[in-house]
Amino acid sequence: MFPSDCLDVNKAGHLTIGGYDAPALAKEYGTPLYVMDETQLRQNCRDYVRSIERFYDGRGLALYASKAFCCKEVLRIMAQEGMGLDVCSGGELYTALQVGFPPERIYFHGNNKNAQEIREGVAAGAVRFVVDNLEELRRLDAEALRQGKRIKILLRVKPGIDAHTHEFIRTGQIDSKFGFALETGEALNAAKKALASQSLELCGIHCHIGSQIFDTAPFALAAQVMLGFLSQIKAQSGIELDELNLGGGFGIRYDENDTPRPYSEYMERVSAAVKITAAQLGLAVPFIVIEPGRSIPGAAGITLYEVGAVKEIPGLRTFVLTDGGMNDNPRYILYGAKYRVLCANKADQPADQTVTIAGRCCESGDLIQEFTPLQTVEPGDILAVLSTGAYNYSMSMNYNRFPRPPVVMVNNGSARVIVGGEDYADLTRHDY
Ligand SMILES: *Cc1c(COP(=O)(O)O)cnc(C)c1O
Repeated sequence: MFPSDCLDVNKAGHLTIGGYDAPALAKEYGTPLYVMDETQLRQNCRDYVRSIERFYDGRGLALYASKAFCCKEVLRIMAQEGMGLDVCSGGELYTALQVGFPPERIYFHGNNKNAQEIREGVAAGAVRFVVDNLEELRRLDAEALRQGKRIKILLRVKPGIDAHTHEFIRTGQIDSKFGFALETGEALNAAKKALASQSLELCGIHCHIGSQIFDTAPFALAAQVMLGFLSQIKAQSGIELDELNLGGGFGIRYDENDTPRPYSEYMERVSAAVKITAAQLGLAVPFIVIEPGRSIPGAAGITLYEVGAVKEIPGLRTFVLTDGGMNDNPRYILYGAKYRVLCANKADQPADQTVTIAGRCCESGDLIQEFTPLQTVEPGDILAVLSTGAYNYSMSMNYNRFPRPPVVMVNNGSARVIVGGEDYADLTRHDY
């Protein structure tokens, strides 16, 4: 019935998350409110960590792509669960270092890391850089030399897989701002340059083929293409690189059309492809890295709003106006993201209306969902938008000078604030 195990309905007919009554949370902490369930969050990590143990004999690492939801407490939990971390900015790296995240499990992404970020990443010690382009390779080489360090790197490669059509498109994916193209020889050239550097240690290669993917086939295809590239590097240089990072992109359930497979199934299928292809190419099975982002916090999180006015436009639509909107969830206005919405204090009642959920920003496009089923609601009711744990808080903004809402973590019926809500003073903090 619900997209994740942490959600249920109690005797009062209220939605619960992690055993906590959702309308009670709204009352206690105010709305809008992000809520995340710790048990679910940890469980999602364990699925990946255990799969790596099982299908790669532990020779691998699951990185949490922190851009999905980055705050200190979530990163502490990731460290405790044995996850590595994918950061793609100085700010994400800073947050990780603040909680003592082991640098040797941090991978630094980003297609245009600036001088400060390169300096900070090198200074952090064992952080691995995923190098995007030759200019970065040059700057990183110079900075490592300057700091007297030897830095482990991977090269970001465009394998030419269209994950949503399954096709191996030889040219199509060149048209991406991320990474080195395989088919033009750009990636091989970069590998040779990296191998020639004294201060950089080329450990392996990386690709990321897309997001919200349900099928395992494109991942298996990407693994084959990437192993082919490792074989090419070996043929040209005599060096067999030991690390293959296959990126993230595993889909989650937003609405009933989404049908994610258990992550262990993906791991099993891809590990089989990796082992067979490596054997065919005469390569040892490399150390495997994966980078799940949204599938870690996504379905573990919900957002709660209070209903203000309900505005019926006869013959057209009914707007349910909430006290949040594109500020805390810009994904509908950005790309029409689907969400399931329900009335948290009427969760046992049928969704007998079709409504549009709108926010309170000065933008007509400030919508959370259009023409979506909902219980008949009135002012004061609490709405829950499900599967908002990823790319909501992390994409939130202060448009119209609305303060960002707090984030509450629930765990077996208890709750704690993990990110405080902003107040008006936060909004003027940097104003002169
Ligand atoms: C965004 C991103 C991920 C995570 O993607 P999800 O779809 O959230 O799993 C992993 N790796 C890289 C390089 C990314 O940019």
